[in-house]
Amino acid sequence: MDPLRHVKPAVRAVKAYTLAARQALVKVNQNENPYDLPESVKRRVVERALMRSWSRYPDFDPKELLQALAAFSGWRPEGVLAGNGSNELIEALLVVTVGPGTRVVIPEPTFTLYGLLTSILGGEVVRVPLAPELEYDAGALRRARRESQAGVTIVCSPNNPTGGVLAVEEVERLCADADGLVVVDEAYHEFSGQSVVPLLARHENLVVLRTFSKAMALAGLRVGYLLASPALVREINKARLPYNLNFFSQAAALAALENRRELENAVRRLVAMREETFQALSVVPGVRPYGSRANFILFELLDRDPKAVFEALYKRGVLVRDVTSYPRLERCLRVSIGSPDENAAFLDALREALTETFEGVEGR
Ligand code: PMP
Repeated sequence: MDPLRHVKPAVRAVKAYTLAARQALVKVNQNENPYDLPESVKRRVVERALMRSWSRYPDFDPKELLQALAAFSGWRPEGVLAGNGSNELIEALLVVTVGPGTRVVIPEPTFTLYGLLTSILGGEVVRVPLAPELEYDAGALRRARRESQAGVTIVCSPNNPTGGVLAVEEVERLCADADGLVVVDEAYHEFSGQSVVPLLARHENLVVLRTFSKAMALAGLRVGYLLASPALVREINKARLPYNLNFFSQAAALAALENRRELENAVRRLVAMREETFQALSVVPGVRPYGSRANFILFELLDRDPKAVFEALYKRGVLVRDVTSYPRLERCLRVSIGSPDENAAFLDALREALTETFEGVEGR
């Protein structure tokens, strides 16, 4: 008896998306916001939850939240879906668009969930490498999309883990070029100062995904949202699980939106620190940081074993993200922008880690 015989071959063939659960004093591996919501805001959410029966289901359609998200993003409420993290909406979107043989254009390297779900659903991933400096190659994306007659093209802007954006005009060209869907994942848009949401009114094949996990400081409560034409949203909604967003997370998302001024200030601080960290990394010998429009920086180790540097950082209490398994990033690590103390601790630990790992390289 082999129960695994009944698991689809496409699933058996893919590698799981996993993250080793390591603890650290300075945790800069998941692009989280170092600034938690103020306790007063958290208390308001808890009080709201206390007033409500926990034995009853949440709203079938979280109308109040959808209205607030529409107002916040400048789009129509009938064109908004909320989910248990944007991951869930990525899944719903791909479930309704990708089947055996559907071609999905995905730049490489990028957030791995897109390729993984496409493969599980039997779709065919059409990988488009980033340009030499790890920026988007808009021409190559357009070509791949046309030549493969892709049903879906996915672009994270800013991209994770490289940090680059695709210009709004290039997204518009993609949308106008062919009728396949263009999905722009704006998980980090608040740090980039750009958004393709204004294009939604002109392009019915555009889908925008966003999250509360980064700038909105709610990763622990799992809230994401999707913006698209109402007709497309009605179809994607069919694959959304009933009652997907619990009432506590709905209330927290509303509270975060009410608290947006403070969140915007935190974003400004993080962007300023990203630029400072980039400058600091640029003058560390043997390190090459890539310019980023998100809340993290990808950096290359020119003459060190990146895994050794990762461990040497960890030994000093600093947990960054090992991205060496991504194509083209064999020499790279990724660090999230933390609080000023965390950033300083990271830079100090990195200088020490580079000294410590020097002999390892010499001895190779
Ligand atoms: N898209 C991108 C590009 C991401 O980097 C992430 C988080 N790592 C997500 C989506 C998922 O975010 P969420 O927490 O909303 O599921």
